[in-house]
Amino acid sequence: MKDTFRHKGLRQQLVNVLIDKGIKQPGVLKAIGKIPRHLFMDSGFLDHAYVDKAFPIAADQTISQPYTVAFQSELLQVQPGDKVLEIGTGSGYQTAVLIELGAKVYSIERQQELFKKTSKFLPQIGYRAKSLIFGDGYKGLPDEAPFDSIIVTAGAPFVPKPLLSQLKVGGRLVIPVGVDVQTMTLFIRKGTKEFEQHEFGEFRFVPLLENKN
Ligand code: SAH
Repeated sequence: MKDTFRHKGLRQQLVNVLIDKGIKQPGVLKAIGKIPRHLFMDSGFLDHAYVDKAFPIAADQTISQPYTVAFQSELLQVQPGDKVLEIGTGSGYQTAVLIELGAKVYSIERQQELFKKTSKFLPQIGYRAKSLIFGDGYKGLPDEAPFDSIIVTAGAPFVPKPLLSQLKVGGRLVIPVGVDVQTMTLFIRKGTKEFEQHEFGEFRFVPLLENKN
C-alpha cells in the first residue's frame, strides 16, 4: 500500500479542482489533500482515484465523488471532539475525512462484505473510528445518541425519523433525499420538536436500502 509523490501531486490537483468548484473550509481541503484515496479503491481503478468522480467499490456500491464528500463535510461543520454518526460506511473514505476533522465517528454499513473489508482496512492505514457497525442505518444508533451531527451517504427516499430524534439540540443532519435524484438537505435541530430545513441542489447517490437481512 504505497503513497508516492505522484499520488500526493495528483491529490493537490484534486484539492485545486474542489477549490474551483467552491469548497472553502480549510479542514476539509486539508483532509482531502492528505487521505490516500487510491488505497480505498480496487487496483484496477487506481488511475481514477484523483479525478473528481464516484467509482465502483465492492457489493455494487460506490465511493462518493470527492466534491460530494467535501460538500457534505462542509455542511456538517464538524468541531474537534464532535460525536458524528455516518450512515453508509462503504469504502470508509468519508469516515476518514470525518476522523481527520477530529470527529469521534460511529459508522453503520448494511452490506456485510463492505463492513468486513472496511473494518479491516481503515485501521491498517491509521484511521480509527470510534465504532463501525454492521446494521441498518434507517434506525440510527439509539444506544449512542445523541449526536452532534449525522451524515447519510446514500440516497434516502424519505427522512428516517430516528435520525432526527438522535440529534442533539443544535445538531445537524445532512441527508440526500429523493429516489432517482436527491436534494442535499440539511436539518438543524433548534429545539426538542423544532427543526430548520435547508436545501442545496441535486446530487446522485446509490439508494439507502431498507434492511432486508
Ligand atoms: N461513505 C461511502 C459512500 C458509500 S455509498 C464512501 O465514502 O465510500 C453508500 C453506502 O451506503 C453503501 O456502502 C451502501 O451499502 C450503504 N447503505 C445503503 N443502505 C444502507 C442502510 N440502510 N444502512 C447502512 N448503510 C446502507
